[in-house]
Amino acid sequence: MKLLFQGGHVVSASGVSRMDVLVEDELVAAVAPTLSCPDATVVDVTGKLLFPGFLDAHTHFDLDVANTTTADDFQTGTRAAVRGGTTTIIDFACPNKGETLAYGLKLWHEKADGKSACDYGFHMTIDDWNAGIRREIPDMIAAGIPTFKMYMTYPAMMIGDRDLYCALVELKKFNAFAGVHCENAGVIDALIAEKLEKGETAPSSHPATRPNALEAEAVGSLLRMAQVADAPVMIVHLSTKEALEEVRAARARGQTVYVETCPQYLLLDRSRYENEDYSMAARYVCAPPLREREDQDALWKALSDGTIQTISTDHCSFTLAQKDAGRGDFTRIPGGLPGVETRGILLYSEGVAKGRISAPQMCALLSETPAKLYGAFPKKGILAPGSDADIVVLDPDAQGRITAADQAANVDYSPYEGFITQGKIDQVYLRGHLTVDKGEILGAPRGKYLFRKC
Ligand code: MN
Repeated sequence: MKLLFQGGHVVSASGVSRMDVLVEDELVAAVAPTLSCPDATVVDVTGKLLFPGFLDAHTHFDLDVANTTTADDFQTGTRAAVRGGTTTIIDFACPNKGETLAYGLKLWHEKADGKSACDYGFHMTIDDWNAGIRREIPDMIAAGIPTFKMYMTYPAMMIGDRDLYCALVELKKFNAFAGVHCENAGVIDALIAEKLEKGETAPSSHPATRPNALEAEAVGSLLRMAQVADAPVMIVHLSTKEALEEVRAARARGQTVYVETCPQYLLLDRSRYENEDYSMAARYVCAPPLREREDQDALWKALSDGTIQTISTDHCSFTLAQKDAGRGDFTRIPGGLPGVETRGILLYSEGVAKGRISAPQMCALLSETPAKLYGAFPKKGILAPGSDADIVVLDPDAQGRITAADQAANVDYSPYEGFITQGKIDQVYLRGHLTVDKGEILGAPRGKYLFRKC
């Protein structure tokens, strides 16, 4: 099977160029200003942008959390992903405390294998540290998992300073690293208790219990521990201007720090929690919470100046019925937002079309840099000879409108309801297979496990 994409502009992290792309079977065979191939099927992409398929390195599909299970499993979640141009997701395998990493990995393969509409890999969550877990680190790397996750908050998963430090030291020996959820657990608990004591139980109390300072404090604390461990680290879903300052300070000391943010922290703000209608407010509950306009501005600037390396979604979806669990007690609202389906077009529309970032920067943030950081480059993250033919055909001149009625995710709302997008995704190819055409998902799930190596 040969496909020849003619007339388009190929986007990479270094530029946008008028290029034809020849695909042979599942791989890119050639990229050049003018290509011809008599036995190839021609795909006319005149006037379109061709992005390498987006990677979303932060999803939670089929996760048991807060006495319920996320609304999206690997089947619906990856359909949503690929529909939005994301051809690779990296989900968090999450063994419970007391379970082995091997068990967590087996469980996540059972959840994902044969059901995924896009390619997928796993990060491994470390929520315990002992001799057994330590011995399993090389096993995980041998299984294609060179990246890990730790939590500084959430009782079910949080890891103390000693264990976090020991894990950072051990991971570094294998050229592996961890992404860390940074919020100060103890003070958040105290703030929640204050709110509940006062009877302030509505969703509007949620952001007040997780203020900017408590993200910045945890980021600062993590980065000082990483300094002592002499280990690189990734701050996941960074949401505040104060936390950016901690990152800059650590880099000025010579540390290697990677930063991820998410569309919700760029495009939605704290006022969403002020709605008197419980359901309208509860649907936005996530942690860290939505922040202020000035945080958004600082994050956009940090994307543009290179302070932030990647944009993932933290897709962790619950239906409005599931979000109802917190009526009368905001702490019972399952935390998380859907986002895997809309990240690409939102970043194009709100970022590139509005001039906040360039198309090459978008390509770096969504494709090339995550592929490099997470050990999938150049198979993923670039359209170059030998790479997987994961191609997003984006029409920069079309407009779209985001609405829950038009989404593949198994959720009955969109946090971005009503957003008008400049630009629209026309087609998505997964390893050379036309997988999405004008919003329609074609064929059986053909996502493969992505073996990664850092
Ligand atoms: Mn998460």
